[in-house]
Amino acid sequence: MRKKVIAGNWKMNNDISQSINLVKGIKSILQSTKADVIVCPPYTSLSTVQQLVNGSFIKLGAQDVSVQNDGAYTGEISLSMLKAVGCEYVIVGHSERRQYHKETNELINTKAKKVLGGGLTPIICIGETLDEREKGITDQILTTQTKGVLAGLTSSEVEKSIVAYEPVWAIGTGKTATPQQADDAHKLIRKVISQLYSWATAEKVIIQYGGSVKPDNAKELLSQPNIDGALVGGACLKADSFAAIINAA
Ligand code: PEP
Repeated sequence: MRKKVIAGNWKMNNDISQSINLVKGIKSILQSTKADVIVCPPYTSLSTVQQLVNGSFIKLGAQDVSVQNDGAYTGEISLSMLKAVGCEYVIVGHSERRQYHKETNELINTKAKKVLGGGLTPIICIGETLDEREKGITDQILTTQTKGVLAGLTSSEVEKSIVAYEPVWAIGTGKTATPQQADDAHKLIRKVISQLYSWATAEKVIIQYGGSVKPDNAKELLSQPNIDGALVGGACLKADSFAAIINAA
């Protein structure tokens, strides 16, 4: 049985003092959880948040990583830096990185390999745009993305990875995929993984849903058979709503 994994992507929100308040708020509401819980603050808050979550049920993740190891890459952050600050997870290929930084499946695949090579867990994001859904090519897009981002990974690497299905039209828009739409997409992604590897491998992969997950829709989404957790944006910025989503899992 797959464990539920709830991750909060803070994006470019929360300076150091706001980060302290948010983590303290989550910890004051929840003492322990059934689900695995991850917070992904901006780079500038990673060290502070690590000190607050160390030894607790909250694990630390980053929002991105460089494909380079070190050197003259202004503005980039390496995997070894993330590891040294205590990150266990790294989001790769978020749709905002695809949109604003032109990240491709190939680059995201390189990042996923880098993260796995360093012993951390990648949260690998895929998802169709509104235009693609309206054209009826969602399955085709998700198949291509799944194959692209997982290319060359071993079965044990895939089993350790988290895939986040995030329909782009549902991110930050207040529009949520229906539980059926989300579960259908997850089922397809799992089928593609089973064709690339095996059913045994596909059954082990955690597939999160992301896209306007809120306390009032979390329970229904998270009770779908193929939805193993949530990647949460807006609703993770308030301790009470993030805690309510974690409790729904
Ligand atoms: C996200 O950024 O991954 C996300 C799902 O955002 P939101 O929950 O705000 O839609």
